[in-house]
Amino acid sequence: MAERSTTPAIGIDLGTTYSCVAVWRHDRVEIIPNDQGNRTTPSCVAFKETDRFVGDAAKNEATRNPTNTVFAVKRLMGRRFSDVSVQSDMRLWSFKVIEGDGDRPNILVDYQGKQKQFAAEEISAMILTKMKEVAEAFLGCTIKNAVVTVPAYFNDAQRQATKDAGLIAGLNVMRIMDEPTAAAVAYGFDSNDVNSAVKKNVLTFDLGGGTFDVSLLSISNGVIEVKATAGDTHLGGEDFDNRLLNHFVEEFRRNQRKDISNNPRALRRLRTACEQAKRILSTTPETAVHLDCLYEGIDFYSTITRARFEELNIDLFKKCIETVKRCHEDASIDKSNIDVIVLVGGSTRIPKVQQLLKDYFGGKDLYRSIHPDEAVAYGAAVQAAKLSGQGNEEINSLVLIDVTPLSLGVQVLGGITSVIIPRNTPIPVQKEKVFHTVDDYQSEVWIKIYEGERVRCEDNNLLGQFLLSGIHPAPRGETKIIKSFKIDSNGILHVSAEEPISGEKKQITLINREGRLSKEEIDRMVQEAERYRIEDDQFKKKVLAKNSLEDEAYSLRRLMKDEKVISKVPSGYLEYTAGAVDKVINWLKHDVPKDVYVYNSKKKELQEMCSKLSEMSL
Ligand code: AMP
Repeated sequence: MAERSTTPAIGIDLGTTYSCVAVWRHDRVEIIPNDQGNRTTPSCVAFKETDRFVGDAAKNEATRNPTNTVFAVKRLMGRRFSDVSVQSDMRLWSFKVIEGDGDRPNILVDYQGKQKQFAAEEISAMILTKMKEVAEAFLGCTIKNAVVTVPAYFNDAQRQATKDAGLIAGLNVMRIMDEPTAAAVAYGFDSNDVNSAVKKNVLTFDLGGGTFDVSLLSISNGVIEVKATAGDTHLGGEDFDNRLLNHFVEEFRRNQRKDISNNPRALRRLRTACEQAKRILSTTPETAVHLDCLYEGIDFYSTITRARFEELNIDLFKKCIETVKRCHEDASIDKSNIDVIVLVGGSTRIPKVQQLLKDYFGGKDLYRSIHPDEAVAYGAAVQAAKLSGQGNEEINSLVLIDVTPLSLGVQVLGGITSVIIPRNTPIPVQKEKVFHTVDDYQSEVWIKIYEGERVRCEDNNLLGQFLLSGIHPAPRGETKIIKSFKIDSNGILHVSAEEPISGEKKQITLINREGRLSKEEIDRMVQEAERYRIEDDQFKKKVLAKNSLEDEAYSLRRLMKDEKVISKVPSGYLEYTAGAVDKVINWLKHDVPKDVYVYNSKKKELQEMCSKLSEMSL
């Protein structure tokens, strides 16, 4: 059993478009509302001249300050700049992504009057910090421990990047949990099926803002076991928005002979309108898109029907159903043996998606009683309670068995991948395979690690490589190399290689540094994140001091209009006070942020005047 921790551990669903935080408290899961009272928070960060906003405030900045408002960074996590998906996403984003060291995508913004580059991990860390603060404000204590979710189909680099983001945010990420597993836990607890002796096959269909995941799990007697998982780390609501966006950009081009795609502000406004239209189309058959002065003073008025929206996206919707098929076939479970279909993620509200899914399962009803936006955070909070020993008996006895989503192997002669851990193997797992040298008296060997299902290495994803040197020289095929792969409970891969002939055991553990942040970079980002936090705090204090001075000035102005004051205070003093108040109000209007003590000392002066007026009018 886990050691009991004193402060609560939280579950965070770090989504592409929205994030959600939950905690196990008072024997149940509570979804934590943010400072705006919203149960989900936009995964959005806005940079300004003086300060930085995260969440709802950042989303509000998106149209006003499009080039410095960053969203959907989950799509960049653990990816290279040259990645095809990064290149195509960038074209439709209003903020800039540039090539950083090691082919890493860096986000370029203007912040505090300077150009600044941020790694995707840093932006994600800002969102995680926000979620941590939301939980701290709600629970009234400091939070350290968290479970953070990722799409089941996230690869090693994407998981590592998420873990690094947690580290930068000052969180102890107890576990990286797969989103569909979290949703299945939520289903298990919501339906009370988790402890039922009757085994149920549950399919979670998770279509969010940027990622799509399907998992097939079995639930019985407190054991939730993932049987197979499939998905696409790059398919979701944002793609549907993009299709609508392209549709309207084309329409504008046709009707007005103008191309708005190079205007970030117009693009951003149209994108926001597209997302709204898409949501409305989930409940109505037709909607209008009206944007005044969209481009060069031209207004944009158009309508879109649900049927047209479906037509624009039908290939993507069908792709989702193909993935469902692959998933249950991988688990060797016929679709007729699937007992429950759980919908997760905001995009599952699209009627066509629901209809295609229902049709595929022969008209079976879809399980909709858990909130699709909150299910993942719910499951993560249960896992966090279990790992921190703060849950009840039911939680503590819960057993979760995850699987690895992609096959993992090494390159062998002829550029072929030799699989060491096949996909859908339950984790944690450790496997090893023996290889032999391919040259006479070979003294070193490169170990190249790949993930993916293709035979040729070049068609798979290179995770990393290292050189094992100083191996025993012998004729070809006589020296053994034992390659060992270990996947820990976070789904993160550790690789080692060993040459036992010489007796001198040499072992190298792979640290996948390609495209990843180094320890030094993470340390620097941790320090910077702390600096930003302090700056944000200071900014907040300045704003509060400024507001408080403004309040004081206006209440003094009101006091001067009081009849008693007018009749009893000498007019010379009244004039002097009115002049002082006007001066402060005027100064505040043209103020650039000052130190807190400047506001406080001015406030003190006004307060003294206020007491004097009160005394004189007695
Ligand atoms: P999630 O990542 O699960 O929070 O899902 C967010 C995605 O769901 C975004 O792309 C939203 O635009 C989308 N979404 C939310 N509500 C609806 C709706 N009623 N109809 C269609 N899409 C929606």
